[in-house]
Amino acid sequence: MSRDCLFCKIINREVPSEFLYEDDDFVVFKDINPAAPVHLLIVPKKHIRSINDLQKADELIISGLFMIAKDMAKDQGINESGYKLLFNVEKGGGQEIFHLHLHLIGGWKR
Ligand code: 5GP
Ligand code: ZN
Repeated sequence: MSRDCLFCKIINREVPSEFLYEDDDFVVFKDINPAAPVHLLIVPKKHIRSINDLQKADELIISGLFMIAKDMAKDQGINESGYKLLFNVEKGGGQEIFHLHLHLIGGWKR
């Protein structure tokens, strides 16, 4: 938990947000400013600043992010039409919230 971190506050329910999924280690919620009809954020509860800060002990977090992402894509009905998975890494990579999260983006009519 990092005191100044918005996503830690969301995870700890200090900032209200509806979770589409939660388990002991992850939450999933909708992006407040969606870039597509479906735009979810898959967020580990452990505060990790960015991909750059991953450690060997975090391997289960990385695999969990992808397993939850493909389950959420199916849940949202976009697994067959297709979607994007995205990590923004640090400021130059477009990261604005410095708590690791995976974007699941899709649902376009193509
Ligand atoms: P980043 O640019 O760090 O990869 O992505 C951060 C994402 O968090 C952005 O897409 C932004 O719209 C989203 N976001 C920022 N503040 C909030 C918030 O308070 N609630 C939710 N649900 N999403 C947020
Ligand atoms: Zn955090």
